[in-house]
Amino acid sequence: MIRINENYLKLKSSYLFSEIAKRVSSFQQSNPDSKIIRMGIGDVTEPLPQSIIKAFHHGVDEMADRATFKGYGPEQGYDFLREKIAHYDYAFRGARISHDEIFISDGAKCDTGNIQELFATDITVAIPDPVYPVYVDTNVMAGRTGENKNGRYENLIYLECTAENNFVPELPKERVDLIYLCFPNNPTGATITKEQLKKWVDFARETKAIILYDAAYEAFIRDEDLPHSIFEIEGAREVAIEFRSYSKTAGFTGTRCAFTVIPRECMAYDSNGNKHSLHAMWNRRHTTKFNGVSYPVQKAAEAIYSPEGQREVKAIIDHYLDNAKIIREKMTSYGYNCTGGENSPYIWVDVKMDSWKFFDMLLNKCQVVCTPGEGFGKCGEGFIRISAFNSRENVINAMERIAKL
Ligand SMILES: *Cc1c(COP(=O)(O)O)cnc(C)c1O
Repeated sequence: MIRINENYLKLKSSYLFSEIAKRVSSFQQSNPDSKIIRMGIGDVTEPLPQSIIKAFHHGVDEMADRATFKGYGPEQGYDFLREKIAHYDYAFRGARISHDEIFISDGAKCDTGNIQELFATDITVAIPDPVYPVYVDTNVMAGRTGENKNGRYENLIYLECTAENNFVPELPKERVDLIYLCFPNNPTGATITKEQLKKWVDFARETKAIILYDAAYEAFIRDEDLPHSIFEIEGAREVAIEFRSYSKTAGFTGTRCAFTVIPRECMAYDSNGNKHSLHAMWNRRHTTKFNGVSYPVQKAAEAIYSPEGQREVKAIIDHYLDNAKIIREKMTSYGYNCTGGENSPYIWVDVKMDSWKFFDMLLNKCQVVCTPGEGFGKCGEGFIRISAFNSRENVINAMERIAKL
C-alpha cells in the first residue's frame, strides 16, 4: 500500500490568501458595481523595462539560429550572469563573493524551500514571527517541526518581532542550529543595521549555527548605512547563505530568475563532528535536481546590470517607494503606528484590533483589500500589511477612501 508523507497532515491549510479571495469575491458579488482596490498583493505591477525586454528578445532570437542555439546550460547558471552578480551585487559593496559561489535558479521561493534538504531532520530551527510562510511550511513537510498546537509548531523556536524590538528579533536564549532572517522584511518592512546583523553573525559563529538570509527586497534599500547583503558583515562567509531574486528587484515574478550564494567556507557538521562544505552539497543537489534557468531569461537578467538597465530598474523601484511613502504618511496621519514603507515596499500597520475584523471593515467601508497580519504568524495579530506594488492612482484613491473611516 502506497503511503503518504504524514508531515503534510501537520500543515495548516493555506488559509490566508484563499480566505482573502473568498471574502473579496463574496463582497464583489453582493456589490457588483463597487470598484475594489487591492493593496494586499505581494506581486509587482509594472512591466519589464525596455533594455531588459531587448536582451530577452535577443536571447530568444539566438535560440532560433543554429550558430547561436543553446541546449542545456550549466546548472549553476551562465558565467556571464554570475560574474555580473559577483561584481555589481557584491564586490561593489565590499563583499568578497566569487562567481562560482553563486547559483542561478528560477526563484528564491524554491531555493529557500529546498535548502533545508541539506540539513538533518532533528536540528532546531529558529524562524521569525511574523514570517514569509515558506520557511515554516517547508520545515513542516520535512518533519522538523512537530505538531501545530494553538497556532505554533511545538519544535520551532519563534523569534518574535514586535514594536518593542522594532521588528528585529533578539538572539534566542535556546540553542538553535538553523536561523531564518529576512531583511528588508516581508511582511513588516523592517530593516536591520550592520551592527544588529553582526550580532547574529557572531552568534552563529559561536554556536556553529547557519543563517539563511533572505534579501529578496535589498533593491528597495536607499539608506546608505543599511546592509544589502549579509556578506557585508565580517565573518558571515563561514555561517551564512544568502537568497536573492529579480522578482521584486526588476519585475521578474512572471519571468523567474533568482540566485543563492553559498561561500566556500560555509560548513556544517556530520554526527561525528566532521565538517562538510555546504557549497559542495548544494552544488551536488542543484546539478542532480535542477537543469538551469533558460538562456533568454538569464540574458534578460544580465541586462539589469547594464547602465540603462540600472536606470530603468531604479525608476520602477522609486515608483514603488514613492507609493510606500504616501501610504506610510497617510496612515500615520490617520493615527496609526506604521513600520516599513522606507527601504521596503511593505507598510506594517498597527490597527489595534483583530486583523480580520479590520480587514472586513476596510473591505466593506472603503472597498480596499489589505492583508491581515495574523496570516503571517501569532505576532501579526493586531496588524495589517499594505503593499506599495500598485499604480499611483490606486494608492491615492485607496488612501482617500481610508481617510473617511
Ligand atoms: C517575493 C519573495 C521572494 C521571491 O520569491 P521568487 O520565488 O524569487 O519570486 C523571496 N522571499 C520573500 C520573503 C518574498 O517576499
